[in-house]
Amino acid sequence: MSHQNTLEYAREMDAKDPLRKFRDAFHFPNFHEKEVVYFTGNSLGLQPKSTQSYIQEELDAWAKYGVEGHFMAKKPWFSYHEFLTEKAAKVVGAKPEEVVITHSLTTNLHLLMVSFYRPTGNRTKILCEAKAFPSDAYALESQVKFHGLDIEKDLIEVAPREGEHLIREEDILSAIEEAGDTLAMVMIGGVNYYTGQLFDMKKITEAGHAVGATVGFDLAHAAGNINLKLHDWGMDFAAWCGYKYLNSSPGGVSGMFVHERHANRPDLPRFAGWWGYDKETRFQMEPGFKPMYGAEGWQLSNAPVLGMAAHLASLDIFDEAGMDRIGAKRDVLTAYLEHVIDDISERNADRCTFEIVTPRDITKRGAQLSILAHGQGKALFDALTEQGVIADWREPNVIRIAPAPLYNSFEDCYRFGQCLEAAIQ
Ligand SMILES: *Cc1c(COP(=O)(O)O)cnc(C)c1O
Repeated sequence: MSHQNTLEYAREMDAKDPLRKFRDAFHFPNFHEKEVVYFTGNSLGLQPKSTQSYIQEELDAWAKYGVEGHFMAKKPWFSYHEFLTEKAAKVVGAKPEEVVITHSLTTNLHLLMVSFYRPTGNRTKILCEAKAFPSDAYALESQVKFHGLDIEKDLIEVAPREGEHLIREEDILSAIEEAGDTLAMVMIGGVNYYTGQLFDMKKITEAGHAVGATVGFDLAHAAGNINLKLHDWGMDFAAWCGYKYLNSSPGGVSGMFVHERHANRPDLPRFAGWWGYDKETRFQMEPGFKPMYGAEGWQLSNAPVLGMAAHLASLDIFDEAGMDRIGAKRDVLTAYLEHVIDDISERNADRCTFEIVTPRDITKRGAQLSILAHGQGKALFDALTEQGVIADWREPNVIRIAPAPLYNSFEDCYRFGQCLEAAIQ
């Protein structure tokens, strides 16, 4: 398809977009007097207009029933998380028993690593990507120290090669092979938050398993973005947050995936709480922890219902739109944005100081483009903000933009280009 950087063409593409009606299902910020170009759905997704009524329903039930809302609310709070499970499982390509919505992302990563990072004997190492998201880096570091091990020796970071921005998958695979039987766990971001690079999770999982390690992924930038098939890819565990592409409120609830093969593993060490206890006998409050079957066995606490209600509002939209259609639009929309940026970059070659570092190959990325700004990076970003673009600046020199297929339009991409061109001039 040959795209054109014109308003007319962008509007034609919008008119043909089968998901165009969903734009109207979201609140768009307009604190710049005019409506902004919102390209930060990878950081905080926009608020669905339906969210308020989902939360209001629970506030009303609380007002009306008090504690009895646990059983008498239209969606009883006692099992509120169950209303989300199937829809969330569809978004990530898992069986419902493999998924639970609970806690926050970093909490979930720790809870899962307590079970799946079990250094023993010579097998002590964790393999991760260099420049992982800071929270993940701290989580991994503290897990290694928690076991009395040494991060210099036991944390292997795979970095891009000298002079390159992306990590070569072959380097991850060979590092796994090289670590061999010293490798306890592989833990990588499925989509790198900084570059937008998508990794082949199936291949990495197979490589980790081949040397006897467990394999987990942080899917913060993949859930609701990439067409995931967690069950088929076979990873041991994964976690993601609900507030990026999944639009489920700031700091909103997170998802956990534990592969079916671990569903009935009371032998796995875990940090337990009452909500992970066998549901039928939970309130007999017997001593001795009996975990629930599947991912639910990793829950600690009863559901934070207001946050869950926000997540449910968004999952209902995902359910209606469907990940297949979302993925199809994602690829065309991101390619169009890329075309617009390339066009501007070519026409302003004399003063242009930026490049796209996200993979050009659409099978190696999702809905994010990371623009590496040489020299005047922050100035370019500030000028974009001035023009009404909400993008994301990451030190030292990357502007991240994410056209979210559910609510961003081709016209947004065209408008972004206009702002970019004004900013560099
Ligand atoms: C957004 C993000 C987080 C945030 O974790 P919280 O516990 O929700 O604050 C962690 N890891 C990655 C990779 C992220 O992108």
